[in-house]
Amino acid sequence: MFNWKQFLVAYKIEFIEHGPNVSRGNCNIKCPWCGESDVSYHLGISLNGKGFGCWRNTNHRGKNPRRLVQALLQCSYDAAQQIVDGSNTLVLLDERSFIDQVNSLFGNNQPIPYLGDDPLDFTNEMRLIQNIGLGKFFFDYIKNRGYTANEAYQLIEDYKLHYAVRGAFSYRVIIPVIMEQGLVTWTSRAITDNTLVRYKTLSVDKEKAESQSTPRALISIKDTLWNYKDLLDNPENKLVVCEGPFDAMRVDFFGKEQGVRATCLFSKTISSAQYILLDELSYLYKDKVLLLDQDATFDYLWIMDNISWLGFKSQILPKGVKDPAELDQKNILAL
Ligand SMILES: [Zn+2]
Repeated sequence: MFNWKQFLVAYKIEFIEHGPNVSRGNCNIKCPWCGESDVSYHLGISLNGKGFGCWRNTNHRGKNPRRLVQALLQCSYDAAQQIVDGSNTLVLLDERSFIDQVNSLFGNNQPIPYLGDDPLDFTNEMRLIQNIGLGKFFFDYIKNRGYTANEAYQLIEDYKLHYAVRGAFSYRVIIPVIMEQGLVTWTSRAITDNTLVRYKTLSVDKEKAESQSTPRALISIKDTLWNYKDLLDNPENKLVVCEGPFDAMRVDFFGKEQGVRATCLFSKTISSAQYILLDELSYLYKDKVLLLDQDATFDYLWIMDNISWLGFKSQILPKGVKDPAELDQKNILAL
């Protein structure tokens, strides 16, 4: 039987194993026949040899793996057939050494995402922010973003905000990203503005991580949604999508008691992985909103175009509020 997963990993074809379109025993990829019009992962592949099929177009299905391999690699019939035959004679290695072997064969440094990586943890240099010692600087930074001391304590506890005074993330507030599998990466905000890099994020690139003496992110931050696990486990009425983590944190912090939860995309664009994650969340929330600045940019409108059919509406910030981090509790409830 053709080993689809090995093939997809080896040829770096993005696939997902969970999601509303993914049936048990399947994995899904973007349909090569739909091409660009498949913004999601609509082609299901049976991992038990039952063939493949597209949710969008019933002509895009079949049983012979050669046909799909050919479409994906845009190679000749013979080349595709060789790949399919070849996989039957492959000595089965465990997945990790297989990936290493592929890496050495292709001689590239691009890490292949591997969900079986060692779990990620905060480094010894990182501490939960506290209002004592050097932690005070970070505690004050949080308060200065518009929180009382009590609110700041709660915020730090709720979102596990850390700090460091040594290492690659020193003098930064560290914002963890917790997905279903646990901590997968973090981003960090400098507490002073006289720095070139305001936000610094853990890299998935092995060499980059090594050169900076940091752990390696399990997933690129652009393939995550902030607070995803909690949003999945504890859905409320309304989901608000913001651009940055401090915005989302504020909306979520003041909103969650009132049925409003929030996440962010970590930029003004949306990746296909984030789209899939929003798709999953969209079933759990009745109201879904993309929060726009007064001067909503083209990027936002483009995102809106993409997620409106998941049921998202756009909402513009109240007058006088420049960005969501300025929202007070009253404004958030009024949203
Ligand atoms: Zn298709």
